[in-house]
Amino acid sequence: MTSTIPVNSLSRHIAPLQDALSDIAAAIIASGYYVLGPNVKAFEQAFAGYCGAAHCISVANGTDALELSLRALGVTEGDQVAVVANAAMYGTSAVLACNATPVFIDTNVDDGLMSIQSLQAALDSGAAPKAVIVTHLYGKLADIEAIVTLCHGRGITVLEDCAQSHGATRNGKRAGSFGDIASFSFYPTKNLGALGDGGAIVTNDAQLAETTTRLRQYGWSAKYTNSLRGGRNSRLDELQAAMLLHMLPLLDGWNTRRREIANRYAAGIRNPRIVVSGPAGDDHVGHLYVVRSSARDALREHLQAEGVQTEVHYPVCDHRQPCHAGAFDGVRLPNTEADAVSVLTLPCFPELTDAEADQVIAACNRF
Ligand SMILES: *Cc1c(COP(=O)(O)O)cnc(C)c1O
Repeated sequence: MTSTIPVNSLSRHIAPLQDALSDIAAAIIASGYYVLGPNVKAFEQAFAGYCGAAHCISVANGTDALELSLRALGVTEGDQVAVVANAAMYGTSAVLACNATPVFIDTNVDDGLMSIQSLQAALDSGAAPKAVIVTHLYGKLADIEAIVTLCHGRGITVLEDCAQSHGATRNGKRAGSFGDIASFSFYPTKNLGALGDGGAIVTNDAQLAETTTRLRQYGWSAKYTNSLRGGRNSRLDELQAAMLLHMLPLLDGWNTRRREIANRYAAGIRNPRIVVSGPAGDDHVGHLYVVRSSARDALREHLQAEGVQTEVHYPVCDHRQPCHAGAFDGVRLPNTEADAVSVLTLPCFPELTDAEADQVIAACNRF
């Protein structure tokens, strides 16, 4: 093999932006304003507008965005929060940080997204969550309209985790505009990624916007006046905000290219031992292209030998993580558990060429 096709390449992604981002960095360094300044404000406005939401509150990372959103929704010690168990502990960690209890909900067989039947069953059998975290995993919008209807009918709030789904759209509405509040991550590998950590909370609710704005800066209502408990330092800096502001107009084009690659895989991979993800419409921004195989580990070795790098998102279910010390040993999530041993992520990023995608397809078809 000549060279390995990477599962993702940030150097290829950022190379065309190198000069522009360097100029932006130089201007910020000279400006004397480094945290929560004019670029942060401008990016928050632009991103709220992009998402079709009234407010955007930037924070330090996506995990803080989840946790501060839960706190703003009033989640506190002893509360339950419903969450999927196949999303690398992000949502679950935020629940635990609030001293609340995760109620794990199983996923759909075909797409790894929260199963509304499983959520309904949990509610019918006595679970009483204060909030539900809906993760739009792999870049695809969950059954979010129906979940919001179900939850609001029972007085349960909905937090959308959009860390993998920036820009996904259904019926003219974007990820982050369906529930009560939404969280985003701008970690470098995300569809919209900074050159460091970053995150945001998006909401149409003025009160939630006000509360999260305070929580991200020590719980201040005014400088040095700490009015809210649970506050911390979770601010975005000017460098990251300015880079994100530069990249935001490029997001839709990147998503279109990710979708093209996903659809190339969906159409081209023909192997009875590999279950492909269906073609991606506007509600899927191709963050990760995932296939399933009962011979996953052998497929992974085969692809590695053929020069195709892969990854597993994610190998350990939340309810089986060692940090819980057995607290969820009785929990059974058949679809989630099946995915952990069968999912495999193929290379999918905007700069992947058609020729590379075709090599990946050929390698899969030779398995
Ligand atoms: C990346 C990610 C997060 C966490 O974001 P960080 O910025 O890394 O804290 C949360 N949820 C999902 C689904 C993610 O993919």
